[in-house]
Amino acid sequence: MKYIGAHVSASGGVQNAPVNAKAIGATAFALFTKNQRQWFSKDLTDNEIEEFKTNCANLGYAPEQILPHDSYLINLGSPEEEGLDKSRKSFADEMKRCQQLGLKLLNFHPGSHLKKISEEECLNRIAESINIALSKTQGVTAVIENTAGQGTNLGFAFRHLKHIIDRVDDKSRVGVCIDTCHAFAAGYNLADKYEFERIWDEFDQTIGFKFLRGMHLNDATKPVGSRVDRHASIGSGCIGKEAFRWIMEDPRFDNIPLILETPDELIWAEEISMLKGFCNN
Ligand SMILES: [Zn+2]
Ligand SMILES: [Zn+2]
Repeated sequence: MKYIGAHVSASGGVQNAPVNAKAIGATAFALFTKNQRQWFSKDLTDNEIEEFKTNCANLGYAPEQILPHDSYLINLGSPEEEGLDKSRKSFADEMKRCQQLGLKLLNFHPGSHLKKISEEECLNRIAESINIALSKTQGVTAVIENTAGQGTNLGFAFRHLKHIIDRVDDKSRVGVCIDTCHAFAAGYNLADKYEFERIWDEFDQTIGFKFLRGMHLNDATKPVGSRVDRHASIGSGCIGKEAFRWIMEDPRFDNIPLILETPDELIWAEEISMLKGFCNN
């Protein structure tokens, strides 16, 4: 079964996200559980939590179909003690919010070395940050997203993700989310069928499909290897429609949230229905 949706608005409260997802025909969705541009927000109320759970149940969204995303400010590999400490506290709070909402996944960008520490030291810090967050929460898996490699962001190579996973104590609560635009920008040419197959073989050998807990489906505005993170609507960028058809036809991408973060939300319903049409199951 393919679960297909988009990163929908939770404005007015998290309980609105499943309603917004349903309105575009989604069978999966992503959301922020707090303001994504703030370090901390006020706690979720019992009412919000209850209403979120009721709406999800009534509209047919199980936790496996929901991929919450953390705040953009968090840098779990920060070279600076103060930034690292704040990031770790904020991330643990995000994990706690997911746990309260009965969710099982939390998607985040690994972190940046800011040219102050080595890649390896930064990746080690990220792994340690994950260990800390997992030790403070239960039932929520930390889902590391690959990046475009813009600026000093790490996580653009599969080996980075593996380096982190290798250092996480509880392997049952760590996973990855592959963003097609980020992968393409980082040099993985998903637009070419031969390369597409080779890339997923490499992914399986380096990380393993059992760690794949979600996907972000975005076309890319910039050419392969650009290192620029600029999403395009499906079929209107440099990756093109066919790569998304290959994903939809491939059972290795079954039963995980497949989330659009494409720029024109007015056509999300169309994009979802096109992707559903590509599925052969
Ligand atoms: Zn993404
Ligand atoms: Zn992006």
